[in-house]
Order: sequence, then C-alpha cells, then structure tokens
Amino acid sequence: MELTERPVYLCPICRLETLHKIMGHLDARYGICCTNCGNGSLVGEAELHLYQLQWEEELQSIIRELGSAVDRPSMIDRSATATVMLSTDRIPGEKKPR
Ligand SMILES: [Zn+2]
Repeated sequence: MELTERPVYLCPICRLETLHKIMGHLDARYGICCTNCGNGSLVGEAELHLYQLQWEEELQSIIRELGSAVDRPSMIDRSATATVMLSTDRIPGEKKPR
C-alpha cells in the first residue's frame, strides 16, 4: 500500500488527527509536518500506514452511515432547520408602557 501524499496522523501538539505533509524520509522513517499547526514529527512508515488504514475505514463507515440516513429521511437531523420560537411574553415585574 502506497502512502498518500498527505497522510493523516495524530499531531502531538494540536492533538488533532490532521493531514500531514511528507517532508522527506530516510529508509522507513518519515519526517512529516502538521498542516494545522506546522509541527514536525518523525514517524515510522508502519505507523503512518496504520493511521491511513484506520482513517480510511472510519471514512468508509461515515459514508455508509450517511448513505443509510439518506435512504431513511427520518434519520436526518432536522434541528438545523427548526424554527426558533421567540417568546413574546413580558418579563415578570416589567411595567407596561402607558
Ligand atoms: Zn498540529
């Protein structure tokens, strides 16, 4: 399995699984740079492959879940389109204008 140009890796500084740019490698040791914070890491090729596999599996499962949510429209979260009801009640104790 070939490593992608920008493998996903857990950045030890920003603690995010983000894309990393491969800066270079010596045998099976890679120098990578976090695309989020710019931190550099030295990682073994096997570990990068493992992260890439896990990330691809996670992505596939998200795509499957999205596919089944589209098949069953009731599963789609409609909260984003919910209408916000504004209360027209007066604040207790507030004096009514005369
Ligand atoms: Zn980072």
